[in-house]
Amino acid sequence: MSILASIEKNLEKISDFLNLSNREMKLLLSYKAVHHAKLDVNGNKYDAWRIIHNNALGPGKGGIRFHSKVSEEEVKALAFWMSLKNSLMELPYGGAKGGVRIDPKKLSEEELQQLSRAYIRAFYKYLGQDKDIPAPDVYTNPKIMAYMLDEFEKLKGKHEPAMITGKPLILGGSPLRGDATSRGGKIILEEFLKHVKPKKKTIEVVIQGFGNAGMNIAKMLFPNYKIIAVSDSKGGILLQDGLNIADVIDVKQSTGAVVNYEGATKISNKELLELETDVLILAAIENQITLANADRIKAKYILELANGPVTADADSVLHERGIDVIPDILANAGGVVASYCEWAQNRAGNILPEEYILNTFESKMRSAFMKTFALYSKQKDFDMRSSAYAIAIKRIIAAEKARGHL
Ligand code: NAD
Repeated sequence: MSILASIEKNLEKISDFLNLSNREMKLLLSYKAVHHAKLDVNGNKYDAWRIIHNNALGPGKGGIRFHSKVSEEEVKALAFWMSLKNSLMELPYGGAKGGVRIDPKKLSEEELQQLSRAYIRAFYKYLGQDKDIPAPDVYTNPKIMAYMLDEFEKLKGKHEPAMITGKPLILGGSPLRGDATSRGGKIILEEFLKHVKPKKKTIEVVIQGFGNAGMNIAKMLFPNYKIIAVSDSKGGILLQDGLNIADVIDVKQSTGAVVNYEGATKISNKELLELETDVLILAAIENQITLANADRIKAKYILELANGPVTADADSVLHERGIDVIPDILANAGGVVASYCEWAQNRAGNILPEEYILNTFESKMRSAFMKTFALYSKQKDFDMRSSAYAIAIKRIIAAEKARGHL
């Protein structure tokens, strides 16, 4: 199921509850700006996009990805997702996304820098701290953000660090950003467990994906939680007594694959998804739980650290089976909340104490959880994703109405 199809299906689920008119629905399914360009790197041309889905709540905000499968439809869907995520988190942002259709692994360091600068030369007129603020996404990182900031400031003839987030610390980046997604995910998971009160002392966890998001949350949950299985693209490992996560990280970092960990049973990713556990954390890629396997999932709760790992069809099956899914736009919003802290600090030219930033981060995560869980508890036919979507859409529509657009 495509990401856009999943979003539209989720919108349908809540349209009666929100009493969305045709005009409101049409506005939600339209885009404020779709910019396309061909970027030239050493004579080769690559398609690139910057798309704003909605900007009623504030300037566009969303990452830029470099990937060979980037398409206009994908960037649109991801921009839509950012509108929902930013609105749910009550950040002063609309939703945007960017991408270049390219395999960055085939580029030299020099070409990667050329590509990053070419992206800004193509789109700089539409970017800025009060217009649209990019950040890292798939295969882009702080180094690339630094090249992009530098090119933008050259073209503008002034400093403007808040035009992009996820920068290196030396250029105004935030110390929170590196593991913010996992930090936010852990806060959401713990708030959720406080509310559902599982009758167990030790909570069992299974994690799919052992990269930035999956490895960091494993590090944060260990040893208070019993992590019985983890996996990466090369396969998974299972140890019913609980894995020693510090050792798994050593193995992953030294050999590139968790399956090289000794003393655990090797399992496939398919088997890992279907394990009996309290919490299944999805931290790899999209479309992992679909109609094909939703009826075989045995986890009690699912935390979506990845974007779109459970399809809209599978959501309905899981909901009927009493399995709670904590949706991506809530569970993995830590990254954009940390970006907000970086942007606010850069804009104000103010150096805020780390404790203050951490408190802001934690309280934003907790309050989004509380609102989502409260609606979910009240609205019996809703899954948690429908609750999160309803809250987010309601704010976007309210902002459009306040501006006199509806
Ligand atoms: P990453 O590339 O660092 O890690 C991805 C991990 O998933 C790797 O360990 C890879 O081997 C594994 N993987 C890939 N295909 C797999 C498969 N079929 N089965 C099992 N494992 C597989 O990426 P990341 O930054 O950790 O991001 C993971 C997910 O989280 C993505 O969906 C991303 O969009 C989402 N996310 C990440 C952040 C962030 O700040 N890192 C923020 C928001 C959302």
